[in-house]
Amino acid sequence: MEMLNKAIGSPIGLVISTDAGKGNRWENRECMRHLVKNFQKRYRGEVFERNLWLAAMAYRRLTYKRHYKLINEACPEAMKWLIDNHKLLWTRSMFSHISKCDYCTNNIAETFNSWVRNEKSLPVIDLLDKIRHMIMERFCTRAYIAAKLTRKILPHVTKGLHDKSRNLKFSITKCTPMVGEVGGVNKDLIPWRFTVDLEKKECSCRYWQMSGPSCVHAIAFIGTRRVEPEDFVDKYYSVQKFKVAYTILFSHCFVLNYRDDESSMDEQPTMEEQPLAFEPPLAMEEQSMSVVTANTARAKKRAKKGTKKAKKNNLIRL
Ligand SMILES: [Zn+2]
Repeated sequence: MEMLNKAIGSPIGLVISTDAGKGNRWENRECMRHLVKNFQKRYRGEVFERNLWLAAMAYRRLTYKRHYKLINEACPEAMKWLIDNHKLLWTRSMFSHISKCDYCTNNIAETFNSWVRNEKSLPVIDLLDKIRHMIMERFCTRAYIAAKLTRKILPHVTKGLHDKSRNLKFSITKCTPMVGEVGGVNKDLIPWRFTVDLEKKECSCRYWQMSGPSCVHAIAFIGTRRVEPEDFVDKYYSVQKFKVAYTILFSHCFVLNYRDDESSMDEQPTMEEQPLAFEPPLAMEEQSMSVVTANTARAKKRAKKGTKKAKKNNLIRL
Protein backbone atom coordinates (compact mmCIF):
# COMPACT_ATOMS: atom_id res chain seq x y z
CA MET A 1 0.00 0.00 0.00
CA GLU A 2 2.87 2.35 0.80
CA MET A 3 4.45 1.70 -2.60
CA LEU A 4 1.10 2.20 -4.33
CA ASN A 5 0.69 5.45 -2.49
CA LYS A 6 4.16 6.49 -3.63
CA ALA A 7 3.37 5.57 -7.24
CA ILE A 8 -0.04 7.16 -7.69
CA GLY A 9 -0.39 9.60 -4.80
CA SER A 10 -3.86 10.44 -3.51
CA PRO A 11 -6.09 11.44 -6.43
CA ILE A 12 -9.46 12.86 -5.37
CA GLY A 13 -12.16 10.19 -5.43
CA LEU A 14 -9.83 7.21 -5.46
CA VAL A 15 -11.33 4.25 -3.61
CA ILE A 16 -9.39 1.19 -2.49
CA SER A 17 -11.36 -1.92 -1.63
CA THR A 18 -9.57 -4.72 0.21
CA ASP A 19 -10.48 -8.00 1.87
CA ALA A 20 -8.78 -6.70 5.03
CA GLY A 21 -6.12 -4.06 5.00
CA LYS A 22 -4.71 -1.08 6.76
CA GLY A 23 -6.29 2.30 6.25
CA ASN A 24 -4.63 4.89 4.08
CA ARG A 25 -5.22 8.36 2.75
CA TRP A 26 -7.70 7.09 0.17
CA GLU A 27 -11.28 6.10 0.82
CA ASN A 28 -10.69 2.61 2.16
CA ARG A 29 -13.50 0.15 1.83
CA GLU A 30 -13.64 -3.39 3.07
CA CYS A 31 -15.07 -6.32 1.15
CA MET A 32 -18.32 -7.28 2.86
CA ARG A 33 -18.10 -10.89 1.69
CA HIS A 34 -14.78 -11.35 3.49
CA LEU A 35 -16.04 -9.41 6.52
CA VAL A 36 -19.15 -11.64 6.84
CA LYS A 37 -17.02 -14.77 6.47
CA ASN A 38 -14.82 -13.55 9.31
CA PHE A 39 -17.82 -12.46 11.39
CA GLN A 40 -19.54 -15.84 11.04
CA LYS A 41 -16.57 -17.62 12.58
CA ARG A 42 -17.55 -15.94 15.88
CA TYR A 43 -21.21 -14.99 15.67
CA ARG A 44 -24.10 -16.74 13.97
CA GLY A 45 -27.84 -16.30 14.22
CA GLU A 46 -30.96 -15.11 12.51
CA VAL A 47 -30.56 -11.49 13.57
CA PHE A 48 -27.15 -11.30 11.87
CA GLU A 49 -28.33 -13.08 8.72
CA ARG A 50 -31.29 -10.72 8.43
CA ASN A 51 -29.57 -7.45 9.18
CA LEU A 52 -25.82 -7.48 8.53
CA TRP A 53 -25.97 -7.51 4.72
CA LEU A 54 -28.89 -5.06 4.75
CA ALA A 55 -26.84 -2.69 6.93
CA ALA A 56 -24.00 -2.95 4.40
CA MET A 57 -26.25 -2.45 1.35
CA ALA A 58 -28.14 0.53 2.83
CA TYR A 59 -27.59 3.76 0.91
CA ARG A 60 -29.12 5.93 3.62
CA ARG A 61 -27.64 6.40 7.07
CA LEU A 62 -31.08 6.01 8.65
CA THR A 63 -31.60 2.55 7.11
CA TYR A 64 -28.10 1.49 8.18
CA LYS A 65 -28.78 2.62 11.76
CA ARG A 66 -32.04 0.71 11.87
CA HIS A 67 -30.32 -2.60 11.01
CA TYR A 68 -27.33 -1.77 13.18
CA LYS A 69 -29.62 -1.15 16.16
CA LEU A 70 -31.37 -4.52 15.76
CA ILE A 71 -28.02 -6.35 15.79
CA ASN A 72 -26.71 -4.26 18.66
CA GLU A 73 -29.77 -4.91 20.81
CA ALA A 74 -29.56 -8.66 20.18
CA CYS A 75 -25.80 -8.97 20.69
CA PRO A 76 -23.82 -5.85 21.72
CA GLU A 77 -20.52 -7.77 21.90
CA ALA A 78 -20.85 -8.76 18.23
CA MET A 79 -21.08 -5.13 17.15
CA LYS A 80 -18.23 -4.19 19.48
CA TRP A 81 -16.10 -6.88 17.87
CA LEU A 82 -17.10 -5.60 14.43
CA ILE A 83 -16.21 -1.99 15.25
CA ASP A 84 -12.90 -2.98 16.91
CA ASN A 85 -11.75 -5.30 14.12
CA HIS A 86 -13.21 -3.83 10.94
CA LYS A 87 -12.44 -0.14 10.91
CA LEU A 88 -12.60 0.37 7.13
CA LEU A 89 -15.83 1.42 5.42
CA TRP A 90 -18.17 -1.48 4.82
CA THR A 91 -21.60 0.16 4.54
CA ARG A 92 -22.72 2.11 1.49
CA SER A 93 -24.30 4.68 3.77
CA MET A 94 -20.77 5.91 4.60
CA PHE A 95 -19.29 5.76 1.09
CA SER A 96 -18.49 9.02 -0.68
CA HIS A 97 -20.27 9.99 -3.91
CA ILE A 98 -17.23 10.92 -5.97
CA SER A 99 -16.27 7.54 -7.42
CA LYS A 100 -19.83 6.64 -8.51
CA CYS A 101 -19.09 3.10 -7.38
CA ASP A 102 -21.35 1.48 -4.81
CA TYR A 103 -19.72 -1.95 -4.65
CA CYS A 104 -19.72 -3.54 -1.20
CA THR A 105 -17.41 -6.36 -2.25
CA ASN A 106 -14.10 -6.56 -4.08
CA ASN A 107 -15.42 -9.03 -6.64
CA ILE A 108 -13.67 -7.08 -9.41
CA ALA A 109 -10.29 -7.91 -7.86
CA GLU A 110 -11.37 -11.55 -7.47
CA THR A 111 -12.35 -11.63 -11.15
CA PHE A 112 -8.97 -10.21 -12.13
CA ASN A 113 -7.23 -12.82 -9.95
CA SER A 114 -9.20 -15.56 -11.60
CA TRP A 115 -8.38 -14.14 -15.05
CA VAL A 116 -4.62 -14.30 -14.42
CA ARG A 117 -4.67 -17.47 -12.29
CA ASN A 118 -3.20 -19.72 -14.96
CA GLU A 119 -0.23 -17.40 -15.40
CA LYS A 120 0.71 -17.10 -11.75
CA SER A 121 3.33 -19.84 -11.93
CA LEU A 122 5.47 -17.67 -14.21
CA PRO A 123 8.55 -15.91 -12.84
CA VAL A 124 7.63 -12.42 -11.68
CA ILE A 125 8.95 -10.45 -14.69
CA ASP A 126 7.34 -12.84 -17.15
CA LEU A 127 4.14 -12.70 -15.14
CA LEU A 128 4.12 -8.90 -15.30
CA ASP A 129 4.73 -8.99 -19.02
CA LYS A 130 2.00 -11.57 -19.57
CA ILE A 131 -0.49 -9.52 -17.55
CA ARG A 132 0.53 -6.42 -19.51
CA HIS A 133 -0.17 -8.28 -22.77
CA MET A 134 -3.55 -9.52 -21.50
CA ILE A 135 -4.60 -6.04 -20.40
CA MET A 136 -3.32 -4.52 -23.63
CA GLU A 137 -5.45 -6.92 -25.71
CA ARG A 138 -8.47 -6.35 -23.49
CA PHE A 139 -8.10 -2.58 -23.93
CA CYS A 140 -7.79 -3.05 -27.68
CA THR A 141 -11.06 -5.03 -27.78
CA ARG A 142 -12.76 -2.32 -25.75
CA ALA A 143 -11.38 0.35 -28.09
CA TYR A 144 -12.99 -1.50 -31.05
CA ILE A 145 -16.29 -1.58 -29.15
CA ALA A 146 -15.94 2.12 -28.24
CA ALA A 147 -15.42 3.06 -31.89
CA LYS A 148 -18.82 1.56 -32.76
CA LEU A 149 -20.73 3.36 -30.00
CA THR A 150 -22.60 6.39 -31.22
CA ARG A 151 -24.99 7.30 -28.41
CA LYS A 152 -24.30 9.50 -25.45
CA ILE A 153 -24.51 6.86 -22.72
CA LEU A 154 -23.27 3.26 -22.61
CA PRO A 155 -25.90 0.82 -24.00
CA HIS A 156 -26.24 -1.33 -20.87
CA VAL A 157 -26.95 1.77 -18.77
CA THR A 158 -29.55 3.03 -21.24
CA LYS A 159 -31.19 -0.40 -21.26
CA GLY A 160 -31.22 -0.41 -17.45
CA LEU A 161 -32.96 2.99 -17.39
CA HIS A 162 -35.62 1.84 -19.85
CA ASP A 163 -36.19 -1.38 -17.91
CA LYS A 164 -36.58 0.54 -14.67
CA SER A 165 -38.99 3.03 -16.20
CA ARG A 166 -41.66 0.37 -16.83
CA ASN A 167 -44.73 0.20 -14.60
CA LEU A 168 -43.71 2.91 -12.16
CA LYS A 169 -46.70 3.82 -10.02
CA PHE A 170 -45.48 6.69 -7.89
CA SER A 171 -47.11 9.93 -6.85
CA ILE A 172 -45.14 12.93 -8.08
CA THR A 173 -45.43 16.43 -6.66
CA LYS A 174 -43.41 19.16 -8.37
CA CYS A 175 -41.81 21.87 -6.30
CA THR A 176 -40.00 23.53 -9.23
CA PRO A 177 -39.53 22.25 -12.80
CA MET A 178 -36.34 20.56 -11.63
CA VAL A 179 -37.21 19.56 -8.05
CA GLY A 180 -40.02 17.36 -6.85
CA GLU A 181 -41.17 14.78 -4.35
CA VAL A 182 -41.76 11.21 -5.41
CA GLY A 183 -43.77 8.96 -3.10
CA GLY A 184 -45.52 5.65 -2.80
CA VAL A 185 -46.11 2.75 -0.44
CA ASN A 186 -43.92 -0.31 0.12
CA LYS A 187 -45.07 -3.94 0.19
CA ASP A 188 -46.14 -3.52 3.85
CA LEU A 189 -48.23 -0.52 2.79
CA ILE A 190 -45.97 1.87 4.67
CA PRO A 191 -45.75 5.21 2.84
CA TRP A 192 -42.37 6.59 1.73
CA ARG A 193 -41.23 9.76 -0.05
CA PHE A 194 -37.98 10.97 -1.60
CA THR A 195 -36.92 14.35 -2.96
CA VAL A 196 -35.47 14.44 -6.45
CA ASP A 197 -33.31 17.31 -7.74
CA LEU A 198 -32.64 17.01 -11.47
CA GLU A 199 -30.23 19.95 -11.52
CA LYS A 200 -27.95 18.49 -8.85
CA LYS A 201 -28.60 14.91 -10.06
CA GLU A 202 -29.54 13.90 -6.55
CA CYS A 203 -32.27 11.93 -4.83
CA SER A 204 -32.66 11.67 -1.08
CA CYS A 205 -32.55 7.85 -1.44
CA ARG A 206 -28.81 8.45 -2.28
CA TYR A 207 -28.68 5.79 -5.01
CA TRP A 208 -28.37 8.29 -7.88
CA GLN A 209 -25.50 10.38 -6.53
CA MET A 210 -23.62 7.29 -5.35
CA SER A 211 -24.07 5.03 -8.39
CA GLY A 212 -24.30 7.38 -11.38
CA PRO A 213 -27.37 6.11 -13.29
CA SER A 214 -30.65 7.61 -12.04
CA CYS A 215 -32.73 5.86 -9.39
CA VAL A 216 -36.34 4.82 -10.04
CA HIS A 217 -37.61 7.95 -8.26
CA ALA A 218 -35.61 10.22 -10.55
CA ILE A 219 -36.68 8.19 -13.61
CA ALA A 220 -40.33 8.65 -12.60
CA PHE A 221 -39.81 12.40 -12.18
CA ILE A 222 -37.86 12.68 -15.45
CA GLY A 223 -40.81 10.92 -17.13
CA THR A 224 -43.00 13.96 -16.37
CA ARG A 225 -40.64 16.22 -18.33
CA ARG A 226 -39.85 16.33 -22.03
CA VAL A 227 -36.26 15.29 -21.50
CA GLU A 228 -34.21 12.15 -22.12
CA PRO A 229 -33.29 9.99 -19.08
CA GLU A 230 -29.77 9.62 -20.56
CA ASP A 231 -29.20 13.35 -20.01
CA PHE A 232 -29.25 12.73 -16.26
CA VAL A 233 -26.75 9.88 -16.06
CA ASP A 234 -23.35 10.73 -14.62
CA LYS A 235 -20.60 11.42 -17.16
CA TYR A 236 -18.64 8.40 -15.85
CA TYR A 237 -21.10 6.25 -17.81
CA SER A 238 -20.82 8.29 -21.00
CA VAL A 239 -19.51 6.85 -24.25
CA GLN A 240 -17.02 9.71 -24.34
CA LYS A 241 -15.43 8.63 -21.03
CA PHE A 242 -15.45 4.99 -22.17
CA LYS A 243 -13.53 5.98 -25.29
CA VAL A 244 -11.02 8.01 -23.31
CA ALA A 245 -10.52 5.13 -20.85
CA TYR A 246 -9.69 2.56 -23.54
CA THR A 247 -7.59 4.57 -25.95
CA ILE A 248 -4.48 4.45 -23.80
CA LEU A 249 -1.41 3.72 -25.86
CA PHE A 250 0.49 1.02 -24.02
CA SER A 251 4.25 1.00 -24.12
CA HIS A 252 4.98 -1.58 -26.80
CA CYS A 253 8.75 -1.32 -26.62
CA PHE A 254 9.21 -3.68 -23.69
CA VAL A 255 11.92 -6.13 -24.72
CA LEU A 256 13.04 -9.19 -22.84
CA ASN A 257 16.83 -9.49 -22.78
CA TYR A 258 17.57 -12.82 -21.23
CA ARG A 259 21.01 -13.78 -22.31
CA ASP A 260 23.79 -12.34 -24.32
CA ASP A 261 22.56 -13.49 -27.66
CA GLU A 262 24.43 -11.39 -30.20
CA SER A 263 22.01 -11.96 -33.05
CA SER A 264 18.98 -10.92 -31.04
CA MET A 265 20.80 -8.07 -29.29
CA ASP A 266 21.37 -6.42 -32.67
CA GLU A 267 17.62 -6.11 -33.02
CA GLN A 268 17.14 -4.66 -29.55
CA PRO A 269 16.81 -0.91 -29.19
CA THR A 270 19.44 0.85 -27.12
CA MET A 271 18.60 2.29 -23.70
CA GLU A 272 18.43 5.74 -25.29
CA GLU A 273 15.89 4.50 -27.84
CA GLN A 274 14.00 2.60 -25.17
CA PRO A 275 13.51 4.91 -22.18
CA LEU A 276 10.88 2.67 -20.55
CA ALA A 277 13.01 -0.47 -20.67
CA PHE A 278 12.96 -2.67 -17.59
CA GLU A 279 16.00 -4.26 -16.06
CA PRO A 280 16.55 -7.70 -17.61
CA PRO A 281 15.40 -10.58 -15.43
CA LEU A 282 17.81 -13.05 -13.94
CA ALA A 283 18.84 -16.00 -16.05
CA MET A 284 16.81 -19.14 -15.53
CA GLU A 285 19.28 -20.84 -13.20
CA GLU A 286 19.71 -17.73 -11.06
CA GLN A 287 15.96 -17.35 -10.80
CA SER A 288 15.52 -20.94 -9.74
CA MET A 289 18.29 -20.57 -7.18
CA SER A 290 16.79 -17.45 -5.68
CA VAL A 291 13.46 -19.17 -5.23
CA VAL A 292 14.92 -22.38 -3.90
CA THR A 293 16.68 -20.45 -1.13
CA ALA A 294 13.26 -20.16 0.48
CA ASN A 295 14.01 -23.80 1.27
CA THR A 296 10.48 -25.06 1.16
CA ALA A 297 9.02 -27.83 -0.92
CA ARG A 298 6.33 -25.44 -2.11
CA ALA A 299 8.86 -22.89 -3.31
CA LYS A 300 10.78 -25.60 -5.20
CA LYS A 301 7.58 -26.81 -6.83
CA ARG A 302 6.62 -23.29 -7.84
CA ALA A 303 10.05 -22.57 -9.34
CA LYS A 304 9.93 -25.78 -11.38
CA LYS A 305 6.40 -25.05 -12.59
CA GLY A 306 7.33 -21.45 -13.45
CA THR A 307 10.32 -22.55 -15.50
CA LYS A 308 8.23 -25.08 -17.41
CA LYS A 309 5.60 -22.45 -18.14
CA ALA A 310 8.22 -19.94 -19.26
CA LYS A 311 9.80 -22.51 -21.57
CA LYS A 312 6.39 -23.26 -23.00
CA ASN A 313 5.87 -19.62 -23.82
CA ASN A 314 9.40 -19.28 -25.29
CA LEU A 315 10.22 -16.63 -22.73
CA ILE A 316 13.49 -18.22 -21.66
CA ARG A 317 16.18 -18.82 -24.18
CA LEU A 318 18.45 -21.72 -23.39
ZN1 LIG B 1 -34.15 7.91 -5.46
